[in-house]
Amino acid sequence: MPHFKLVIGREAVDTETRMAVLNPATEAVVDFCPVAGVEHLEAALAAAKRALPAWSRSSLDTRRALIRSIADGIEARIESLAALLTSEQGKPLAQARLELQKSCAILRYFAQADLPIRTFRHSEVERIYERRAPLGIVAAIVPWNFPIVLLMNKLAPALLTGNCIIAKPAPTTPLTTLEIGHLCASLLPAGVISVLSDSNNLGASLTSHPDIAKVSFTGSTDTGRKVFQSGAATLKRLTLELGGNDPALILDDANLDTVAPQIFRCAMANSGQVCMAIKRVYVPDALYDGLSDRLAALATAAVVGDGADPNTHFGPVQNAAQYERLKGLIADCETRGTVLSGKAPASPRGYFIAPSIVRDIPDDARIVQEEQFGPVLPLLRYTHLDDALTRMNSSIFGLGASVWSSNVNRATDIAERVSSGTVWVNRHMSVDPSVPFRGARQSGIGAELGDAGIHEFTQAQVVNVSLQGG
Ligand code: NAD
Repeated sequence: MPHFKLVIGREAVDTETRMAVLNPATEAVVDFCPVAGVEHLEAALAAAKRALPAWSRSSLDTRRALIRSIADGIEARIESLAALLTSEQGKPLAQARLELQKSCAILRYFAQADLPIRTFRHSEVERIYERRAPLGIVAAIVPWNFPIVLLMNKLAPALLTGNCIIAKPAPTTPLTTLEIGHLCASLLPAGVISVLSDSNNLGASLTSHPDIAKVSFTGSTDTGRKVFQSGAATLKRLTLELGGNDPALILDDANLDTVAPQIFRCAMANSGQVCMAIKRVYVPDALYDGLSDRLAALATAAVVGDGADPNTHFGPVQNAAQYERLKGLIADCETRGTVLSGKAPASPRGYFIAPSIVRDIPDDARIVQEEQFGPVLPLLRYTHLDDALTRMNSSIFGLGASVWSSNVNRATDIAERVSSGTVWVNRHMSVDPSVPFRGARQSGIGAELGDAGIHEFTQAQVVNVSLQGG
């Protein structure tokens, strides 16, 4: 009897085709997951259409209580979900647990959020106000680096605002999402949520379907372009959270002893597979060797291994394609610069990449131009600050960036010259559910989290009433 099934309405649905999900630390099969086709998408849409009229008119308090109950449900089974997440995603167990805790915090933030009415004019003669109406059926498409947090960034505001949701996890990390999907379906009215796992076959059908009002997509910039095109025929509402190539700018007054460990953590977290990880570091001449030595020492001390082992700091990268791509990028770095690598397990199985610092590499190298999405960090030397800023800002990406200095005011002034959706000062990768997150340029369109993230799931409607009789 297959264990993992699609979530369609309240039903657990099996499929003819099933797909092996591998543990990236061992390459052993964790389990098999269903592969949804267009017929399953149609069934999920039919269930959502049945649910939508009552759900979209339910009270805000009802929806808030249900969102809280999802958080309660995840918390009640956090240990088994964390173990499942580690086995399919690869991240250390403590970080899988943290991802689930953050998911609950996101749910709880949205469960207390409001949908205020905005009044433009209110007098004896008229009342003109704007309300936020749900859009309808929303597709939530998610990548494999943070399968649950990134889904909750979409699911919580979509439910709060009265939309139905069809979620699609990445093909290499569907299992925890299916488990949580069944939990959600057991709590919500039938049809409000469906979860369709696929083998990368369903994206175009979802994003072009006329019954989908909005696509909330997190993934690579290349796929984001396809989603943009695919939604054009029906002018779909889109939120695109795409790739990043975040620069960190070290100023000449930075204290390397405090900065180096933070740079290392914000570059290597989740084995570098974070959209807003630090992906290139600009360092003044005088600090270049000092930072390089400190980062290389941290790379050497890092323990890479199976995420199920409590001693592991960094798990494997998540899938074979990413592993091969990173090996190619490192080979390119070796011909164009110097690679200072830590240690990875010698095991013939598992997608392990040692944390690596790349120095003396030119700006036109692949590791600088492309998003590496792995534990490989290039250090780029600069002499003049203006030149460093120009080089930082010349990327097609503009997700996050950071400036590091012992003078906060100076750093904040310089931060405002960086072109990105978020710029941090003396920190990086700091997110909070109440603070909107968005990409500039080809890192995205629209925002997630905060009020802006709620508005993305609504149609603003102006209600214009004459109070002088009809
Ligand atoms: P990806 O673009 O390959 O896949 C993302 C999702 O899109 C998967 O579920 C995939 O099955 C689906 N998909 C594939 N083809 C599709 C199509 N034609 N139409 C619709 N959906 C389709 O990305 P990935 O490799 O899984 O994830 C890594 C990328 O995600 C990185 O670039 C990373 O920076 C980005 N990311 C961005 C954010 C952010 O908030 N900006 C957060 C996390 C990850």
